[in-house]
Amino acid sequence: MRSAEEAIGWAISEFGNGVVLATSMQKGGIVVLDLALKVSPGLRVVTVDTGRLPEETFEMIEAVRQRYGISIETISPAADEVGRMVERFGPNLFYRDASSRLLCCEVRKVKPFERAVKGAKAILTGLRRDQSESRNLVEQIDGNSAPVKVNPLAYWSAADVNEYTELHRLPVHPLYAKGYASIGCGPCTRAIDVGADVRSGRWWWESGSEKECGIHFGPNGAVRRNVDVMLDEIAHHG
Ligand code: SF4
Repeated sequence: MRSAEEAIGWAISEFGNGVVLATSMQKGGIVVLDLALKVSPGLRVVTVDTGRLPEETFEMIEAVRQRYGISIETISPAADEVGRMVERFGPNLFYRDASSRLLCCEVRKVKPFERAVKGAKAILTGLRRDQSESRNLVEQIDGNSAPVKVNPLAYWSAADVNEYTELHRLPVHPLYAKGYASIGCGPCTRAIDVGADVRSGRWWWESGSEKECGIHFGPNGAVRRNVDVMLDEIAHHG
C-alpha cells in the first residue's frame, strides 16, 4: 500500500499531463486535489454540472477556484439528449424506479464524464473503501479500467479525511454543515441522522440498489438492459 502522496506521485510520473482529477467537490476529492496540486500545479481538474446540482456546489466550485487559483472544467450533459429524456420521461424521472434514476445519471453524469476524460491516461478520484459496501474493494491503483483509476485515499477513513481537511484548512462544501454526509444532485441527496450510513442520504427512496451513479460502478444485469432500452428510446424520441 502506498501513501496517498506516493499514489499521486506515481500517477504523475507515469502519465504526466495525461492525468485528470475528477471531483464532485466533496471532502475526499478536495483532499486529493490539495495533495495533487502540490505535485502538479497545472493538473486538469474536471467536475460535472448535471443541471440539477444544489447552489452550494457552485459556491464550492468558486471557493476552490479562489483558493488554488485554478480553472475547473465544468462539464455539462448534451442539452438535446437531456431535452429528449425530460420530454419522454419527465423532469423527475429518478423517483420512479432504479432504471429511470440510472438513466438520468447516465445522461446527466456518466456520459459527460466519459466525454471529459476521453483521451486521459489516468483519473484521480477521492473514492475510499469505507464509504460503502460497493466500494470496499476499491484499489489505490485500478489498472483494470481505461483510463487507469487512481484512488489515493482508498485506505483512508472519514476521520483521516476530516483531520487533513481541518489541518490544512481546506474549503468545505457548505452542505456538510447542514447534516449531509455525501453530496450529489439536489433532488437526490438529503441530510442524514448522526451515525447513519454515509450514503443513505443519496437516492434514499431506493432500497436494494447500490447507491452509485454509474461513473465508477455501473449497473448490470436487468437494470443495465432497462437503461439501454430507455437510452435507445430517447435517442429516437421526437
Ligand atoms: Fe439525475 Fe439524480 Fe442522478 Fe442527478 S443524481 S443525475 S438528478 S438521477
